[in-house]
Amino acid sequence: MRDLIGQLNTLESLNKELLKASKLLSLICDTSNIAYVCYNYGDKSVTIIGNWEYFFDCDIKMHEDLSKLYDYVEIKQITPLKDALFVEKRGMKTATANVKIKDSKMWVEIETNVIYGEDGNPEDKIIRFMDVTKFKLQNDELNYVTYYDTLTGLYNRNYFIHLLGMFLCRSDYKDKSVAVMFLDLDDFRKLSDDIGIFEGEEFIKLFAGFLSEFANEDVLVSHFNSDIFCIGIYDPRGNRSVEEIYRRIYERLKSPFELSDGKKISLTVSIGVAEYPIAASNTIELINCAEIVMFKAKADRNSSIKYFEKSILDDFLKSITIENKLKEAVFSDNFMMYFQPQFNVAQNKLRGVEALIRWRDKSDEIIRPDVFIPIAEKNGAIVPIGSWVIDESVRIYSNWKKKYHYPLLMSLNVSAIQYKQPDFIENVLNILNKYDVAPNEVELEITESILIDDFKEITDKLLELRELGIKISLDDFGTGYSSLSYLKGLPIDTLKIDKSFIDTVVTDENSRIITETIIYMVKKLGLETIAEGVETKEQYDYLKNIECDNIQGYYLGKPMPSEGIEKLIEREL
Ligand code: C2E
Ligand code: CA
Ligand code: CA
Repeated sequence: MRDLIGQLNTLESLNKELLKASKLLSLICDTSNIAYVCYNYGDKSVTIIGNWEYFFDCDIKMHEDLSKLYDYVEIKQITPLKDALFVEKRGMKTATANVKIKDSKMWVEIETNVIYGEDGNPEDKIIRFMDVTKFKLQNDELNYVTYYDTLTGLYNRNYFIHLLGMFLCRSDYKDKSVAVMFLDLDDFRKLSDDIGIFEGEEFIKLFAGFLSEFANEDVLVSHFNSDIFCIGIYDPRGNRSVEEIYRRIYERLKSPFELSDGKKISLTVSIGVAEYPIAASNTIELINCAEIVMFKAKADRNSSIKYFEKSILDDFLKSITIENKLKEAVFSDNFMMYFQPQFNVAQNKLRGVEALIRWRDKSDEIIRPDVFIPIAEKNGAIVPIGSWVIDESVRIYSNWKKKYHYPLLMSLNVSAIQYKQPDFIENVLNILNKYDVAPNEVELEITESILIDDFKEITDKLLELRELGIKISLDDFGTGYSSLSYLKGLPIDTLKIDKSFIDTVVTDENSRIITETIIYMVKKLGLETIAEGVETKEQYDYLKNIECDNIQGYYLGKPMPSEGIEKLIEREL
């Protein structure tokens, strides 16, 4: 009897424990928005634990009632839901599905576990329903930031590279090609400075919105950063889509984009196109190639789109090599000055020399100035190089002066970047002082392009130089934009007629008329003339005949080292 009472007591306390545990489980489920549906295959009972009403407003009394849940999700989610709820039908133990509840923002994770008996038949099934909305949103946000550019909503660079890689794989398999169009807006930074950063961003968004119209399963549109976009095209040859996209961009840019404040923005774009597998063998190379080609398009004023050519890549690689060599060379002894004589025709005597730099690199190869000067101008190396040129040329000139006392003009080529240095004039004067050379013994050669950016600033500087006695000569006349009437306003003393006129002066009537007019007008303006690149006796005779003041060219003397000029001076004495 006592035993029985003891057993009853134990049973009662166990029962209490069980009740407590079950309450605790319900509490946990309720507060964390979880619900369980437990089904026993033996007695076909359905037990629901947790916050069921939080999810659904239907009753589950029988196993089959689970199919009522199909009504709560979108049609396309019914199959994954069914697969998860009736996992045993596929002979499996467990399955999960994430479904979105129709007409709400809630996402529910459904996880089913089936316990099988020794005979292999299912005995119990426990289905857990859990609200995962918060995680899902966080995950989506994370995915968004990982794959998309937050400003424009287009693919970001990383994801674009990933998707482009898939295009490349697909194209290998199907023997097709993939093109990349690299787009860079022209002068966007200047626009952004003018209208403000936020307006600049608004423009980028509008432009991105326009580009997004091209996106489809064969066309990827991405925003790399700032004003750079990249479009990847699968099988561009098949449907001529590069030309079509370019045509539509070109047409669209003809009319301005309107910002929310009514401001109208017009811009142009430079596009480089490279195609896999012709131009490159992988995604990164392909994008890089298209970018290099884009730079070429930008530099070429007449075209806003350029297609890959091997020579563009070769030139680029060459310029990189030169740039690297230039970094090493600037302060070493690889540069030297050559001088080309200029003769006064009427007096038949040496007027002066033009100083021309020569660069012999470590492997003894001569690199031409028209190859490396533009690179040095781009990376700023022209400043130290240019000031070395002035110093070295004036030093050599002062030696001639001491030796021969023969008056000459030393013509120096000066780049725009040098002129723009705030201490440019001061530096020139210091060099002249150092070697005891008078300002009127030097002439600075400028090109018209220098005047484009800051006409006022440059002409003010030129005036200052002239007041000091330094002569100014306009180089390459006839290759730029200037007309004769424009010359009137320029503070210059000398005009150099470009070789391109001289080349055809004997053979071409038009070029003869132009040259004669130039010389006639320039003389009227009180300027001195120099004809450049004179190579033949015919050219010389003709120029002499029309009273061109000075002649420079291979016919009378090639650029030469200092000793060569000394011989010429000796001849004059
Ligand atoms: P540039 O100022 O127009 O110089 C004239 C160029 O024409 C020189 O080429 C000269 O060697 C070449 N030339 C002269 N006469 C003839 C001729 O009869 N026939 C032919 N075919 N060519 C002739 P170079 O020395 O190669 O210089 C090329 C350019 O490099 C120069 O053109 C100038 O723009 C630039 N440059 C040269 N030295 C310097 C420098 O010290 N500083 C700067 N900033 N630029 C320089
Ligand atoms: Ca020159
Ligand atoms: Ca020239």
